[in-house]
Amino acid sequence: MNFNPTRATAIENLNNFIENELSSYSKLRNFDFGPNRRTNISCMSPYITHGVLTELEVMRLSLKKHSFVKIEKFIQEVLWRVYWKGWLELRPNVWTDFIIDLKKLKQQFKDNKNYLNAIEGKTNVECFNTWVNELKNHNYLHNHARMWFASVWIFTLGLPWQLGAEFFMKYLFDGDSASNTLGWRWVAGIQTKGKNYVASEWNIKKFTNNRFSNIRLNENPIPIIDDRNYPIVNRSFLNTNISNNQDLLIFENNLSFDQTDFKDQSFKNIYFIFSGNETRQIELDEKVLKFKKSLINDQIEILKNKSFNCKMITIDNLKNMKGNLLALYPSVSENLDYINANKLKNINFLFRKIDQYSWKYCNKGFFNFKNYIPKIVQEFI
Ligand SMILES: Cc1cc2nc3c(=O)[nH]c(=O)nc-3n(C[C@H](O)[C@H](O)[C@H](O)COP(=O)(O)OP(=O)(O)OC[C@H]3O[C@@H](n4cnc5c(N)ncnc54)[C@H](O)[C@@H]3O)c2cc1C
Repeated sequence: MNFNPTRATAIENLNNFIENELSSYSKLRNFDFGPNRRTNISCMSPYITHGVLTELEVMRLSLKKHSFVKIEKFIQEVLWRVYWKGWLELRPNVWTDFIIDLKKLKQQFKDNKNYLNAIEGKTNVECFNTWVNELKNHNYLHNHARMWFASVWIFTLGLPWQLGAEFFMKYLFDGDSASNTLGWRWVAGIQTKGKNYVASEWNIKKFTNNRFSNIRLNENPIPIIDDRNYPIVNRSFLNTNISNNQDLLIFENNLSFDQTDFKDQSFKNIYFIFSGNETRQIELDEKVLKFKKSLINDQIEILKNKSFNCKMITIDNLKNMKGNLLALYPSVSENLDYINANKLKNINFLFRKIDQYSWKYCNKGFFNFKNYIPKIVQEFI
């Protein structure tokens, strides 16, 4: 796995995947052959999470080579991200409560031996310990391993899902507020109430090619119960007017400006916003912060070569910036929390067309959303 932090690498890796592997994706995607053999999946999430590649680009390039019917599964996976984001946008208090719960739990568990053993990879579950080390060393886990990991964390080790979600956010190169929080809630059985994901010995053995033995798990757990309800919030995702020569802010989720819907507008300056650990609730691993910074620097190089005025600033600089600012919408996330907590009312958001179009279908479950995927593809591809 090579997550070289450049757009050029992302495109090269994606093209290789489309050319050589995508046709067998639906058959092989669930296998986790280990960190040195990842060709059966795209490994694009660290780039898509940061908007280095957009979902539209990934789908367009894929559909240039393969028919929709042949790669429907892949297209569905790419759009899961859009769905999770939209789901959270409609229920932002799920995120707020996660952050509040996390604060309390961190305090409560700071000396808990079971928790400390888990994050050090020193439990009695060998495969889990391997995934802990893999996450710390490679900053990535296969989707199936994320599901097993979360299930072992919650149901075999008996730890709160919120602490596991924090642990993932800290180390994943693709850490994403929506996909991660909702992925953990789904495994716990609170996303789809009463339906938890239970990792089992046979499933782990089969889909890891028998790489692990001695897998003793709680295979009959009851789902986690969380009685809080999150009614859909009525919000508008309409774009503010853009006048010439305004400054534009770009957060860590939309880095490739020249792939956005706003690439043909003229902006005075483009500011890429970096947030270090001093301005985050969830502390990130140094490697993850470095990855983010390098992706930003790569984008600055790309734009400077096209004669844009752009530079990186830290998020706390926003407090001193006067006048109306435009920003590519950072989504429900720590960056949006920062804007709200500091009452930065002079920032007006620009939303992506695909989000404006798709998020209205995120009011129910993914199986409902799936029905609209052909419509979304037809509209944008
Ligand atoms: C507990 C848990 C936590 C997760 N945390 C994150 C996270 O922080 N960030 C993140 O990007 N993904 C997260 N995922 C989703 C998924 O595991 C990763 O997106 C996927 O493993 C990325 O690998 P890939 O790019 O090779 O995926 P591929 O299988 O090649 O899929 C292609 C693309 O589809 C999207 N995708 C695939 N599966 C999912 C999914 N289940 N949910 C949303 N999008 C998906 C991704 O953008 C991915 O790059 C989580 C899943 C679980 C179960």
